[in-house]
Amino acid sequence: MKAKIPSATLAPWPYPLAAGDPCLDFIDTTLHDLDGRVIERLGTFDDVLAWSVAAGMLTADEAHDARQRWGATTSAAKAVREALDFRTKLRDAVDALIRGVPVPPRSLDAINACLARPVMCEQLYAARERGRSSVTLTTVVRFHTPADVLVPIARAARDLFVAGETSMIKRCANPQCLHFFYDHTKSHRRRWCNMAVCGNRAKVAAFRERRQVHGD
Ligand SMILES: [Zn+2]
Repeated sequence: MKAKIPSATLAPWPYPLAAGDPCLDFIDTTLHDLDGRVIERLGTFDDVLAWSVAAGMLTADEAHDARQRWGATTSAAKAVREALDFRTKLRDAVDALIRGVPVPPRSLDAINACLARPVMCEQLYAARERGRSSVTLTTVVRFHTPADVLVPIARAARDLFVAGETSMIKRCANPQCLHFFYDHTKSHRRRWCNMAVCGNRAKVAAFRERRQVHGD
Protein backbone atom coordinates (compact mmCIF):
# COMPACT_ATOMS: atom_id res chain seq x y z
CA MET A 1 0.00 0.00 0.00
CA LYS A 2 1.31 3.42 -0.88
CA ALA A 3 2.06 5.79 1.96
CA LYS A 4 -0.34 8.65 2.13
CA ILE A 5 1.36 11.90 1.14
CA PRO A 6 0.64 14.54 3.78
CA SER A 7 -0.80 17.76 2.44
CA ALA A 8 1.80 20.49 2.14
CA THR A 9 1.89 22.81 5.11
CA LEU A 10 1.89 26.57 4.94
CA ALA A 11 5.39 27.82 4.15
CA PRO A 12 6.62 30.44 6.64
CA TRP A 13 6.78 34.09 5.60
CA PRO A 14 10.35 34.46 4.24
CA TYR A 15 10.91 38.22 4.65
CA PRO A 16 11.84 40.26 7.71
CA LEU A 17 9.14 42.36 9.38
CA ALA A 18 11.04 45.55 10.12
CA ALA A 19 8.37 48.26 10.46
CA GLY A 20 7.95 47.88 14.22
CA ASP A 21 4.16 47.74 13.85
CA PRO A 22 1.94 45.09 12.21
CA CYS A 23 -0.26 47.58 10.33
CA LEU A 24 2.81 49.26 8.81
CA ASP A 25 4.39 45.87 8.11
CA PHE A 26 1.23 44.95 6.20
CA ILE A 27 1.45 48.14 4.11
CA ASP A 28 5.14 47.36 3.50
CA THR A 29 4.32 44.07 1.78
CA THR A 30 4.65 45.90 -1.53
CA LEU A 31 7.96 47.49 -2.49
CA HIS A 32 10.01 48.87 -5.34
CA ASP A 33 13.12 47.18 -6.69
CA LEU A 34 16.24 49.16 -7.72
CA ASP A 35 14.68 49.91 -11.13
CA GLY A 36 11.49 51.25 -9.58
CA ARG A 37 9.40 48.18 -10.49
CA VAL A 38 6.74 47.21 -7.98
CA ILE A 39 7.31 43.90 -6.20
CA GLU A 40 4.12 42.35 -4.80
CA ARG A 41 4.62 40.01 -1.87
CA LEU A 42 0.96 39.16 -1.34
CA GLY A 43 0.19 37.17 -4.48
CA THR A 44 -1.81 34.31 -3.00
CA PHE A 45 -4.05 33.45 -0.06
CA ASP A 46 -1.12 31.45 1.34
CA ASP A 47 1.01 34.63 1.25
CA VAL A 48 -1.65 36.54 3.21
CA LEU A 49 -1.94 33.71 5.75
CA ALA A 50 1.84 33.30 6.10
CA TRP A 51 2.28 37.04 6.62
CA SER A 52 -0.53 37.01 9.20
CA VAL A 53 1.15 34.26 11.21
CA ALA A 54 4.57 35.99 11.06
CA ALA A 55 3.05 39.31 12.16
CA GLY A 56 1.16 37.69 15.05
CA MET A 57 -2.26 38.39 13.50
CA LEU A 58 -3.18 34.69 13.38
CA THR A 59 -1.92 31.60 15.14
CA ALA A 60 -0.51 28.82 12.99
CA ASP A 61 -3.63 26.77 13.81
CA GLU A 62 -6.00 29.55 12.72
CA ALA A 63 -4.11 29.96 9.44
CA HIS A 64 -4.11 26.20 8.92
CA ASP A 65 -7.87 26.11 9.51
CA ALA A 66 -8.52 28.88 6.95
CA ARG A 67 -6.22 27.17 4.45
CA GLN A 68 -7.96 23.83 4.85
CA ARG A 69 -11.38 25.41 4.38
CA TRP A 70 -10.69 27.69 1.41
CA GLY A 71 -7.18 26.95 0.07
CA ALA A 72 -7.13 27.67 -3.66
CA THR A 73 -10.85 28.51 -4.04
CA THR A 74 -12.16 31.53 -5.91
CA SER A 75 -13.35 33.05 -2.63
CA ALA A 76 -9.76 32.89 -1.33
CA ALA A 77 -8.55 34.62 -4.52
CA LYS A 78 -11.22 37.28 -3.97
CA ALA A 79 -9.99 37.70 -0.39
CA VAL A 80 -6.48 38.38 -1.72
CA ARG A 81 -7.85 41.14 -3.98
CA GLU A 82 -9.70 42.56 -0.98
CA ALA A 83 -6.48 42.43 1.05
CA LEU A 84 -4.63 44.44 -1.62
CA ASP A 85 -7.44 46.99 -1.79
CA PHE A 86 -7.53 47.20 2.00
CA ARG A 87 -3.77 47.71 2.06
CA THR A 88 -4.10 50.67 -0.35
CA LYS A 89 -6.69 52.24 1.95
CA LEU A 90 -4.45 51.74 4.99
CA ARG A 91 -1.56 53.31 3.08
CA ASP A 92 -3.76 56.31 2.21
CA ALA A 93 -4.67 56.65 5.91
CA VAL A 94 -1.03 56.53 7.04
CA ASP A 95 -0.01 58.92 4.28
CA ALA A 96 -2.70 61.39 5.46
CA LEU A 97 -1.56 61.11 9.10
CA ILE A 98 2.05 61.80 8.11
CA ARG A 99 1.03 64.78 5.97
CA GLY A 100 -1.24 66.15 8.70
CA VAL A 101 -4.41 66.02 6.60
CA PRO A 102 -7.69 64.25 7.48
CA VAL A 103 -7.72 60.49 6.97
CA PRO A 104 -9.88 59.70 3.90
CA PRO A 105 -13.39 58.45 4.81
CA ARG A 106 -12.97 55.47 2.44
CA SER A 107 -10.03 54.28 4.55
CA LEU A 108 -11.96 54.59 7.81
CA ASP A 109 -15.05 52.97 6.22
CA ALA A 110 -12.95 49.95 5.21
CA ILE A 111 -11.44 49.61 8.70
CA ASN A 112 -14.84 50.09 10.36
CA ALA A 113 -16.42 47.44 8.12
CA CYS A 114 -13.78 44.95 9.30
CA LEU A 115 -14.12 45.96 12.96
CA ALA A 116 -17.88 45.32 12.73
CA ARG A 117 -17.43 41.67 11.70
CA PRO A 118 -18.03 39.18 14.53
CA VAL A 119 -14.75 37.35 14.06
CA MET A 120 -12.54 38.02 17.07
CA CYS A 121 -13.65 36.22 20.18
CA GLU A 122 -12.23 36.60 23.68
CA GLN A 123 -11.75 33.43 25.69
CA LEU A 124 -10.58 32.67 29.20
CA TYR A 125 -8.24 29.82 30.01
CA ALA A 126 -7.30 28.36 33.37
CA ALA A 127 -3.56 28.34 34.02
CA ARG A 128 -1.48 26.93 36.83
CA GLU A 129 2.15 27.70 37.50
CA ARG A 130 4.33 27.00 40.57
CA GLY A 131 1.31 25.99 42.58
CA ARG A 132 -0.59 29.19 41.76
CA SER A 133 -3.80 29.16 39.83
CA SER A 134 -4.68 32.00 37.44
CA VAL A 135 -6.89 32.82 34.48
CA THR A 136 -5.55 34.11 31.17
CA LEU A 137 -7.34 35.95 28.39
CA THR A 138 -6.80 35.07 24.74
CA THR A 139 -8.39 36.41 21.58
CA VAL A 140 -9.20 33.79 18.99
CA VAL A 141 -10.15 34.30 15.34
CA ARG A 142 -13.29 32.52 14.13
CA PHE A 143 -13.33 32.65 10.34
CA HIS A 144 -16.66 32.89 8.52
CA THR A 145 -15.18 33.89 5.15
CA PRO A 146 -11.56 33.99 3.88
CA ALA A 147 -11.70 37.81 3.85
CA ASP A 148 -12.01 37.68 7.66
CA VAL A 149 -8.21 37.44 7.57
CA LEU A 150 -8.37 41.26 7.35
CA VAL A 151 -10.10 41.69 10.71
CA PRO A 152 -6.98 41.30 12.92
CA ILE A 153 -5.16 43.70 10.57
CA ALA A 154 -7.98 46.25 10.95
CA ARG A 155 -7.62 45.95 14.73
CA ALA A 156 -3.88 46.56 14.41
CA ALA A 157 -4.65 49.67 12.32
CA ARG A 158 -7.15 50.82 14.97
CA ASP A 159 -4.50 50.41 17.69
CA LEU A 160 -1.88 52.27 15.67
CA PHE A 161 -4.14 55.16 14.69
CA VAL A 162 -5.81 55.61 18.08
CA ALA A 163 -3.18 54.59 20.65
CA GLY A 164 0.01 55.13 18.63
CA GLU A 165 1.98 58.36 18.47
CA THR A 166 1.33 59.73 14.98
CA SER A 167 4.63 61.63 14.88
CA MET A 168 6.49 58.31 15.26
CA ILE A 169 4.97 56.94 12.02
CA LYS A 170 7.62 57.70 9.43
CA ARG A 171 8.40 57.13 5.79
CA CYS A 172 11.75 55.62 4.81
CA ALA A 173 14.29 58.31 3.89
CA ASN A 174 15.08 56.49 0.64
CA PRO A 175 12.94 58.40 -1.90
CA GLN A 176 12.61 55.24 -4.05
CA CYS A 177 11.27 53.25 -1.12
CA LEU A 178 7.54 53.10 -0.36
CA HIS A 179 7.95 51.78 3.16
CA PHE A 180 6.72 53.14 6.45
CA PHE A 181 7.90 52.27 9.95
CA TYR A 182 7.16 53.16 13.57
CA ASP A 183 10.14 54.81 15.20
CA HIS A 184 10.64 53.02 18.52
CA THR A 185 14.19 54.35 18.97
CA LYS A 186 14.94 56.49 22.06
CA SER A 187 16.40 59.30 19.96
CA HIS A 188 13.47 59.16 17.46
CA ARG A 189 15.98 59.56 14.66
CA ARG A 190 15.38 56.35 12.77
CA ARG A 191 15.53 57.12 9.04
CA TRP A 192 15.42 53.82 7.19
CA CYS A 193 12.83 51.08 6.86
CA ASN A 194 15.70 48.63 6.88
CA MET A 195 19.29 49.66 7.63
CA ALA A 196 20.67 46.65 5.74
CA VAL A 197 18.80 47.62 2.55
CA CYS A 198 17.87 51.31 2.28
CA GLY A 199 20.38 52.57 4.87
CA ASN A 200 23.15 50.69 3.14
CA ARG A 201 22.12 51.91 -0.32
CA ALA A 202 22.25 55.49 0.96
CA LYS A 203 25.69 54.92 2.49
CA VAL A 204 27.00 53.48 -0.79
CA ALA A 205 25.52 56.38 -2.78
CA ALA A 206 27.05 58.95 -0.38
CA PHE A 207 30.42 57.19 -0.59
CA ARG A 208 30.32 57.28 -4.42
CA GLU A 209 29.37 60.96 -4.36
CA ARG A 210 32.27 61.80 -2.02
CA ARG A 211 34.68 59.93 -4.25
CA GLN A 212 33.46 61.86 -7.31
CA VAL A 213 33.74 65.21 -5.49
CA HIS A 214 37.29 64.42 -4.35
CA GLY A 215 38.19 62.84 -7.70
CA ASP A 216 39.44 59.62 -6.00
ZN1 LIG B 1 13.34 51.84 2.72
